[in-house]
Amino acid sequence: MTTAQLRALDAAHHLHPFSDTKGLNAEGVRVIVKAQGVHLWDSDGNKVIDGMSGLWNVNVGYGREEIVEAVAQQMRELPFYNTFFKTTHLPAIELSRLLAEVTPAPFNHVFFTGSGSESSDTIIRLVRHYWAARDRPDKAVIIARRNGYHGSTMGGASLGGMGLMHAQGGLPIPGIVHIAQPYWYGEGGDLSPDEFGLWAARELERAIDEIGADSIAAFYAEPLQGAGGVIIPPATYWPEIQRICRDRNILLVSDEVICGFGRTGEWFGCQYFGYEPDILSIAKGISSGYLPIGGVMVSDKVAETIINAGEFHHGYTYSGHPAACAAAVANIRILRAEGIVERVRDDIGPYMQKRWLALADHPMVGEARMVGLVGALELTPNKATRASWPVETGTVGLITRDFSFRNGLVMRATRDTMIIAPPLVISHDEVDALIACAKKTLDDAW
Ligand code: PLP
Repeated sequence: MTTAQLRALDAAHHLHPFSDTKGLNAEGVRVIVKAQGVHLWDSDGNKVIDGMSGLWNVNVGYGREEIVEAVAQQMRELPFYNTFFKTTHLPAIELSRLLAEVTPAPFNHVFFTGSGSESSDTIIRLVRHYWAARDRPDKAVIIARRNGYHGSTMGGASLGGMGLMHAQGGLPIPGIVHIAQPYWYGEGGDLSPDEFGLWAARELERAIDEIGADSIAAFYAEPLQGAGGVIIPPATYWPEIQRICRDRNILLVSDEVICGFGRTGEWFGCQYFGYEPDILSIAKGISSGYLPIGGVMVSDKVAETIINAGEFHHGYTYSGHPAACAAAVANIRILRAEGIVERVRDDIGPYMQKRWLALADHPMVGEARMVGLVGALELTPNKATRASWPVETGTVGLITRDFSFRNGLVMRATRDTMIIAPPLVISHDEVDALIACAKKTLDDAW
């Protein structure tokens, strides 16, 4: 079939997530047909670098036979059984054990889900269940942040602070409050990054004072905001958040769906930023996207209460799907055996950061930022004022994203921010090629 025929079929039958369907019908979709390593091929034979690791998830790269084999073997052996009603199976046992090993010390228990969104929904119920079990049923409000992203289910999108999502479908659900984000470049005003980091963290304290700690279950946040534009908090932010949560007896939830499994050069984002959460939300990099799976990890303190409370009336048919668990086990074994996380921290991360941060010299770039292998460029027509383009120009990010694909690189756009998060196995030569594509894209778009 030709690309035109494939596009016509797609337009006739497929409703796409997060895509302008009106515009799509005019232009047609991009059809991706295969992938290997860090590269994708489309139906016209174009080879591009996947600078987004799929959706920030293909950490070990494409074409890993070890994962394919592990899944095929599991499907032959036991393609499905559930983990409800006091049953389990070998891959769920092995994955739980491995997760306890790779997460920080207090995390030894996992509740499996099928995605990051399901993990968000699970955590909303779990933190309220936790406080109810401790005779504090009134501790039910969850504080999250504007421009955070925690998924698309009713719970996940409510925790998220995305205005366009809240405007559709009756969100947010009750009991969720949003505070400021630690976005110094866009919202820091005259404050230094450190001053602004403290100010943003103390927004949490101000919200607690207003609502009352007796009504608050948890603070819920990504270590760095991914979908919001790779917003890296100032160094003062997380220690202050940690202090406030401890002082006010509020659970701290770290949404590690993007940062988990090596993206920052540590296994988990909370380790990179140096804080100690009570709950981790995980998905994406747990299986490098080979099959859908997510989970909620709880610290020993939380686990004790949850276990002693008896039955948690919650779960998904695919909680701990055997083939997905097998994919995750094989993926984690690769991450460990090849020292991929350490390589991001000590070698390829610093190598790419140096080159990515140098893009700030381009006249169109107001700020370049990156930790581990996740970064962003803030585009602006005026570096001094950090202005945005007028809306009539169209979204500069989306225009730049199209230039980028034509130049052989997938980047993501959030308004005027370009985002990069390549597979963690990217080589030095591939980083050089990626940077050359990004530079050419900026020149084309300028
Ligand atoms: N949490 C974060 C931080 C995410 O970035 C995402 C997805 O991008 C989610 C949760 C939702 O995950 P999923 O799309 O697997 O439901």
